[in-house]
Amino acid sequence: PEPQFEQDPTKKTIVVLGTGWGSVSLLKKLDTENYNVVVVSPRNYFLFTPLLPSCTTGTIEHRSIMEPVRTIVRHKKRAVKYYEADASSIDPDRKVVTIVDNSEIKGKTMQTEIPYDMLVVGVGAENATFGIPGVREHSCFLKEIGDAQRIRKKIMDCVETAAFKGQSEEEVNRLMHMVVVGGGPTGVEFAGELQDFFEEDIKKLIPEISPRFKVTLIEALPNVLPSFSKQLIDYTENTLREEKIDIKTKTMVKKVTDTTVEAEITNPDGSKQSVVIPYGLLVWATGNAVRPIVKDLISRIPAQQNSRRGLAVNEYLVVQGARDIWAIGDCAVAGYAPTAQVASQEGNFLGGLFNNMAKTENLESRIHDLSSSMNLNPGNSAETAREIEHLEKQLRRVKDVKPFHYSHQGSLAYIGSEKAVADVSWWNGNLATGGSMTYLFWRSAYLSMCFSTRNRVLVILDWLKSKAFGRDVSRE
Ligand code: FAD
Ligand code: NAD
Repeated sequence: PEPQFEQDPTKKTIVVLGTGWGSVSLLKKLDTENYNVVVVSPRNYFLFTPLLPSCTTGTIEHRSIMEPVRTIVRHKKRAVKYYEADASSIDPDRKVVTIVDNSEIKGKTMQTEIPYDMLVVGVGAENATFGIPGVREHSCFLKEIGDAQRIRKKIMDCVETAAFKGQSEEEVNRLMHMVVVGGGPTGVEFAGELQDFFEEDIKKLIPEISPRFKVTLIEALPNVLPSFSKQLIDYTENTLREEKIDIKTKTMVKKVTDTTVEAEITNPDGSKQSVVIPYGLLVWATGNAVRPIVKDLISRIPAQQNSRRGLAVNEYLVVQGARDIWAIGDCAVAGYAPTAQVASQEGNFLGGLFNNMAKTENLESRIHDLSSSMNLNPGNSAETAREIEHLEKQLRRVKDVKPFHYSHQGSLAYIGSEKAVADVSWWNGNLATGGSMTYLFWRSAYLSMCFSTRNRVLVILDWLKSKAFGRDVSRE
């Protein structure tokens, strides 16, 4: 039988915000026997973000990289309560979270409060726009499933509109120009996927307009993938150029309109030059910004007043200056990059920490009970004393929790034309590699990281399907 969720008044209530990398890895690790667990997130599924760029072109179908949270928590020892809602504010003094149903269908109750004993903030980050005018109105982000679906539709809309009878040459050039802003891993992977889609499918199906198709990658810094090694940056830039992707580095976008991007180029002599670039599709991938719920919490905690990039946490991921609040993943500032690897290790650590805290309380109360019984019943005292000693030994072991330590497994990125780059350190040596073998490694690594066997099978089938039959270009 399915476990029924009942609040057990003798147990503490942990409220977990979010169903991303951090929160889900916490839920996997957490022994729900010890706590009442409540999860709040507007997204009732976990999303395997590393393969999201592949969904924009239909190489992978979006449902293959989603896993419902209800399936994830189904096998926990005690039931976990899930509410599909956004946390809209956190009151650290009253220890309550206000949650709001922002989905399309709402009931008569769409806002309520949830009290917590312990709170985990794992709400991730939102897309940075730096307040650049027109970005929100005219560009597509690439963070959620809906973004990938929107991009997939728009690519085909641009192509079909460019093929429309009587379209002027200038307009065809604009519509077939796909511009990506941000040369971090998101922008690079998307540009590579897009060029593949074009080379492998669109070119064959609509040859008359294919010479006009062009991908431009715009980056403000002097090179793309700034977090990778110099050797891999060079390899990536050369490969992207071979794929005919136009890389514009030292180019800062300043304004966006419905058909153009206005940017400032820094020339080699240091002089600046303004350019206007017409586009059909614009994808904006300039990294992370802090979510409003996190900004609001920061404003309520005096010790967080200097936090700009997220909630400052200590080495046990406790939000500094707050009581009983922890933060993990992209919304936490612990000194690591905002990646899935970091978020999942933090979630796993916190799950273990909470399990330990429950064990500690349990042992302490048993020791307390035994000591009391020893006083009441001195006859059994030798045996009881031995048991207490044994429990105290266990308690010391359990209490000895090491702080969070991130172990970097390496960075991987797909760069198009069946090539990938990898910066991995093994056995204290560094391996920086790129190419087709790395691509196979990339595929197998991501496959092994997929959430479930179901996801893994679906991703393999999608890869085979798009290889055998080509990607589906229907615009739905
Ligand atoms: P997320 O995974 O973003 O989860 C946040 C959760 O909080 C979501 O469920 C969201 O719905 C929920 N939420 C939002 N607002 C609220 C609210 N108000 N109340 C409650 N819940 C809320 N990293 C890597 O290490 N390797 C990669 O290959 C890689 N590829 C990537 C590719 C793309 C296209 C992108 C966008 C990112 C990629 N990343 C990768 C980065 C990685 O996805 C993030 O670092 C990771 O998702 C962070 O995990 P998180 O749990 O902090 O946040
Ligand atoms: P990012 O922050 O890594 O890169 C954004 C880039 O946009 C920066 O290089 C920045 O210089 C540039 N930029 C900012 N404003 C600009 C402007 N106005 N004009 C032109 N360029 C501008 O962002 P991301 O690629 O979305 O990655 C976010 C996080 O997710 C990172 O930590 C990244 O490592 C991780 N991630 C990892 C992978 C992977 O490992 N394969 C894939 C995607 C994302």
